[in-house]
Amino acid sequence: MQARSLIDETLRLKRERKAIILAHNYQAPEIQDVADFVGDSLELSIKAMEADAKLIVFCGVDFMAEQAAVINESAEVLHPDPSARCPMAAMIGIDDVRKARKLFPKAPVVIYVNSPAVVKAEADYVVTSANAADVVKAIESDVVIFGPDRHLTEHVAEKTGKIVIPVPPNSHCPVHVMFKAEEIKVLKPLYSDAVLIAHPECPAEVRSLASFVGSTSQMVGFVNSCGYKRVIVGTEVGIIHRLAKENPDKVFIPASTSAICIDMKKITLEKVYTSLRNRVYRVEVPKKIAEKVKRAIENSFRVLGREPSWSKR
Ligand code: SF4
Repeated sequence: MQARSLIDETLRLKRERKAIILAHNYQAPEIQDVADFVGDSLELSIKAMEADAKLIVFCGVDFMAEQAAVINESAEVLHPDPSARCPMAAMIGIDDVRKARKLFPKAPVVIYVNSPAVVKAEADYVVTSANAADVVKAIESDVVIFGPDRHLTEHVAEKTGKIVIPVPPNSHCPVHVMFKAEEIKVLKPLYSDAVLIAHPECPAEVRSLASFVGSTSQMVGFVNSCGYKRVIVGTEVGIIHRLAKENPDKVFIPASTSAICIDMKKITLEKVYTSLRNRVYRVEVPKKIAEKVKRAIENSFRVLGREPSWSKR
């Protein structure tokens, strides 16, 4: 099928099936352009729930589609390519969490949303990169178990002054460790009027060079309101499509052109179309697991003095 008719057919099927397409900020431009919402994983799942969608096509990696299924219990969630799996999420298992609990029985377990649902079900709190530091700060304990991603763990420890124990000790995002402080130090003087923004999954040396460190949704908020005309972007390059669309007067420079998440890019327009046409591949999370994950997400909202939007329905 020609590119234009593939887009038209995908949009037609979406309307016919009364579906919603959600795309993570790291998705390819053509996927972002057919999506109803573009954002980070938890933000997208909540948007789908608020929109009362009955069929959701989630364009992202495995744990994100699972997360959408956890939050939208009554919806059918489809993942266009189940082989699109986050390597960092695969670095943590249930045993890692249970072992850490045995070693530090009084420390609450905080799990990053970038994990399998079965691991999140073991957590006391489930967080995003946007609220991780605030949640850890608000928890009444000076020692906290946190996983996966040791760079986000370090970032949370820096922000809160608490002892944050990484579980497992060395898990990381293979894309965000591609950012090198030495390369950025060469790049920055070439764009002396630009601001550097970085994701907390970047190594500490990179974060320390950035003027703003935050989740992808926080980066979008920062860029949309900052006065800088040129921005050096320290996260997966896919976000530049959204940033440029929302800020046509600004110039975006990738801090590393190699920072491409191969798994995110496994989702293609053809696969989205096939997913809608054949209603594949359905994501299912056992009810017991989903309830535990939701409870851990609710704990994070509540410790921040908020209510998740699903509890108001
Ligand atoms: S960018 Fe990193 S954390 Fe995000 S899906 Fe890819 S490997 Fe996983």
